[in-house]
Amino acid sequence: MIGATLSLIRNSNKNQWCDYCKTRWGQLKDGTWHIKAQVPAVWKAVSESPKRNGITRFYCQDCANEVQNWPDGTYYSLKQQLEDAITHYQKGAYYDEQLA
Ligand SMILES: [Zn+2]
Repeated sequence: MIGATLSLIRNSNKNQWCDYCKTRWGQLKDGTWHIKAQVPAVWKAVSESPKRNGITRFYCQDCANEVQNWPDGTYYSLKQQLEDAITHYQKGAYYDEQLA
């Protein structure tokens, strides 16, 4: 994608929770978040392009490790995953599916 940028930076906002944990554990019936969903994010992954607003994803360290180290032993970095996700997005796939 022409002009797209990717950045993976340390998250400094302690009130920002890990998106992955939030997706995994979700909200309770009363609308509050599951206790395990309330994990402060360590990493902030941001992708931006001229055509789209920035897409931001937050990860705690455990989730970052989990998405980067695959069961078959390969290492697939978050940054590479984001780049691949953007490439796939251009082909019509959903970004969130690429990160899941
Ligand atoms: Zn997490």
